[in-house]
Amino acid sequence: MKIQEADAKTLLLAQGLPVPAWEVARTVADARAAAERFLAAGDDAVVIKAQVLVGGRGKAGGVKLARSVEEAERIAGDILGMSIKGIEVRKVLVAPAADIVKEYYLSAVLDRAERRILIMASAEGGVEIEQVAVDNPDAIITLHADPELGLLDWQARSLAFRLGLGAHLKQAVGIAKGVVRTMLAYDADLVEINPLAIVRERAADGSTTERLAALDAKITLDDSALFRHPELETMRDLDEEDPTDLEARAAGISFIKLDGTIGCMVNGAGLAMTTMDLVKRAGGEPANFLDIGGGARADKVAAAMRLILTDRNVRAILVNIFGGITRGDEVAKGLIEARSMQERAVPMVVRIVGTNAEEAQRLLREANFKTASSLDEAARLAVEAANASGAAA
Ligand code: GDP
Ligand code: MN
Repeated sequence: MKIQEADAKTLLLAQGLPVPAWEVARTVADARAAAERFLAAGDDAVVIKAQVLVGGRGKAGGVKLARSVEEAERIAGDILGMSIKGIEVRKVLVAPAADIVKEYYLSAVLDRAERRILIMASAEGGVEIEQVAVDNPDAIITLHADPELGLLDWQARSLAFRLGLGAHLKQAVGIAKGVVRTMLAYDADLVEINPLAIVRERAADGSTTERLAALDAKITLDDSALFRHPELETMRDLDEEDPTDLEARAAGISFIKLDGTIGCMVNGAGLAMTTMDLVKRAGGEPANFLDIGGGARADKVAAAMRLILTDRNVRAILVNIFGGITRGDEVAKGLIEARSMQERAVPMVVRIVGTNAEEAQRLLREANFKTASSLDEAARLAVEAANASGAAA
């Protein structure tokens, strides 16, 4: 689960990292009011930033500075509603504009092969790290942190010196360790600060000081560990969720869209994968992975059918249910109900074995469903049906 910059900053702040103040606004009026508060408090300018779950907002015109309330209002009006990489901007972050001296890059990701946390850092921050990796790979510093111990002091100090942050050693060490702590605290896959910047601050007497601040933040949380952090569920941005993903989660169905033409409805992840393999062996391509889970009843089957049919590429549906806790007759009822509501006629091949399979067969026969007794046969029939309806379409 990707979370917005503002939420990522909340988590960084909770782990003690230096993040400048901010407000989130959904309307031009709210953005204006936020800018007014910051400017009245003595800031020279504010930065207004599109809150969308994609990178490169700056380049796309989604990050702008404003020096007055009027300018902030105009810029917020430009950014709200604009489209960045196909996503409509529905909210902006408003913050005091930092006076940037130099930008750095710092991130932590899971290195599955090494079973450790990989820290990446660069003194060439601000730009996308992928670009640095291409143009100047030597400018990227990497090191690994132990998942139990986190980033050790000496590692953090060495990193700070290699980045040329010796003058900000204490703060840099705290930030590097904090990034790893944030990874561990929330079971994140990625914590990225780009830019981590040296910013200049001016005191009332005109004197200036320099310190480090996290001006941008990106965090991806491990979906499989979200149950350990129920409080983070509120950070899910429903504005940017795929509607199909939303419906699947609401129904408790594991659903992953693929590129083929054969919709698969199966119970059990292992059986779902086997079904996909057999579809491929029969010469077809699965349109999705779908596991309705154990003990699914008619309404869940109907929801699964709706999910499959939202994909316009689907030319045939293969239902493969192994009845254990799941009762075959319940599934059959769900299929019959789902088909009666189906606004698009798609051929369906059903194989149900196990608990109440005979009753299921009877119901399906009466409703004129095409059934199969073996999985090989079911896969073959589904591929034939897809090819036939593909040719007809
Ligand atoms: P991204 O393009 O989506 O990564 O958005 P960022 O928040 O990283 O902003 C992009 C760039 O805008 C940064 O690398 C900075 O150069 C600039 N920027 C962001 N915030 C500020 C700020 O407060 N002050 C100044 N002067 N520039 C900023
Ligand atoms: Mn950035």
